Amino acid sequence: MIKIPARVLIVDDEEDFVEMFALRLREVGEKVWCAYSGEECLKILAQQNIDVVILDIKMPGMDGIQTLKEVKKRFPLVEVIMLTGHGTTETAVEGMKLGAFDYLLKPADLEDLQTKLEGARKRKDEQEERIRAAEAKAIIRKSGGIF
Ligand SMILES: [Mg+2]
Repeated sequence: MIKIPARVLIVDDEEDFVEMFALRLREVGEKVWCAYSGEECLKILAQQNIDVVILDIKMPGMDGIQTLKEVKKRFPLVEVIMLTGHGTTETAVEGMKLGAFDYLLKPADLEDLQTKLEGARKRKDEQEERIRAAEAKAIIRKSGGIF
């Protein structure tokens, strides 16, 4: 079966971490964009059709939670996986209450990342499918064709 790549945006102020993650995800066939700040993340989301954002919590300037709030406000269908380091698990929980799909503990292993990425993408696909179905129904109603 041919795998359709997920369109993933990795956001972290640690450049080495971003590069390493990007490399590994590309190796397993995903399409990857990189951002090094919350501001850059929002810029890329405005330009690209991204499925899943992997978002570091601790960043200078806009932190992960602030970025998450903006992402969910402007791009509600984009799924977010939070990246947490030492002592930020509580923040990850807060993130999930704000709409993040899940979180990953740093240093995240690839298998764990792939599993969560798959789940996030599935949720986005299903949500988009529900929206398409609802839109189709609305059109049919408007045209008065089918009851
Ligand atoms: Mg950081």
